[in-house]
Amino acid sequence: MSFANFGLSDEIIRAVTERGYTVPTPIQLQAIPAVLAGGDLLAGAQTGTGKTAGFTLPILHRLSDKSIKGPSSGRPPIRALILVPTRELAAQVEESVRDYGKYLKLSSMIMIGGVNINPQITRLKSRVDILVATPGRLLDHVQQKTLDLSHVEILVLDEADRMLDMGFIRDIRKILALLPKQRQNLLFSATLSDEIQILADNLLNKPVMIEVARRNATADKVTHVVHPVDRERKRDLLAHLIKQHRWQQVLVFTRTKHGANKLAEYLIASGIPSLAIHGNKSQAARTRALAEFKTGSLPVLVATDIAARGIDISELPHVVNFELPNVAEDYVHRIGRTARAGAEGDAVSLVCVDELKLLTDIERLIKRDLPSRVIAGFEPDPRIKAEPIINGRSGGPRGMTHARSQPSGRTGAKPAARRPTGIARPAAGRAPAQNRSGGRGR
Ligand code: AMP
Repeated sequence: MSFANFGLSDEIIRAVTERGYTVPTPIQLQAIPAVLAGGDLLAGAQTGTGKTAGFTLPILHRLSDKSIKGPSSGRPPIRALILVPTRELAAQVEESVRDYGKYLKLSSMIMIGGVNINPQITRLKSRVDILVATPGRLLDHVQQKTLDLSHVEILVLDEADRMLDMGFIRDIRKILALLPKQRQNLLFSATLSDEIQILADNLLNKPVMIEVARRNATADKVTHVVHPVDRERKRDLLAHLIKQHRWQQVLVFTRTKHGANKLAEYLIASGIPSLAIHGNKSQAARTRALAEFKTGSLPVLVATDIAARGIDISELPHVVNFELPNVAEDYVHRIGRTARAGAEGDAVSLVCVDELKLLTDIERLIKRDLPSRVIAGFEPDPRIKAEPIINGRSGGPRGMTHARSQPSGRTGAKPAARRPTGIARPAAGRAPAQNRSGGRGR
């Protein structure tokens, strides 16, 4: 099966071929014909599966297909709206739209917050066929009456589960009310939860449903390793690993914004150029850091989960969990950034005694034990006791939803069994209560 079999236009095939794709991914095999057929779609697929091309290619085809009637006079209206949760994802999706559509006479625009609105207002005065937007800035334009969505033919909600997680549901409802009733709706979500199902029931009309395997079922191209290490020595170990292995491009995850800043500062002081990206950084700083990292001129990017959401770097070789995520699913999202679409990569986790319960949760989720290897010179000190994980440091003075009080019990109970590698696990059934109430400290 090749892209030519879908009946996509020659211009699109040419762009896809130049991009180096030869075989469609499973999501593309299912999504492209469904979208070309014109009906609604509910797709369970996460980043890394090739979902962006899965909706972009058929949308480009439909919008450029003369046999499908568009409006005949006046300035052409916006015909496709792609809503995404984060600015980074918007940038990537819009770049893909431009790239795959480079031989077509269609024009796209990105609309995100964190940057001056005036250039966007100017841009809207000329032709925009495909708009890629985050909900907040889109509604700013609606309020300023600078945006007309009354001719949208195709709506995409990308990473819909994240949009709900980030509290965008009311914004989405407002936006839906601005669209024509008659349109094609495509909903993409990594998880098909009850909440997503409710959204889908309201939004979609007899959708084709497709689901591709989650990465945790297929991520066998990723080599996982856990390095047990003391809390206070993680920074040294990370610098050691980067230098020893001469890693050129490594994405490092921390739990908090503050932690991301501190770690980047430490690495710089150790002679390793690094930048942190998180929600408190300006959009310009985030974009610059990401661009430098993508081109390879910046070897280390330190990110929180939200900031890294949707980052697409092809063949990213190394992902380091400087701290394990509070929510096991985020491990899967994090390592979804490596070994993408056929490449190989490794996922290194630096795990201290505080995080053993989190590690157990991850292993349960991905249904495998992660191999553990102590690095000589960084052996954990068995006398160090587990401490509660403070999630909320990054929440700022107001605390907001980030700051959660800790459960009164200690996070890591006394280790009951030691692994030969030196990492200890809490006794089965006696795992201490972790704070899992959703405070992700981003
Ligand atoms: P996505 O899930 O859309 O973020 O895409 C993940 C990565 O896979 C991106 O780097 C794409 O450029 C790449 N990709 C998408 N489709 C294909 C394909 N058919 N063959 C190879 N790589 C692809």
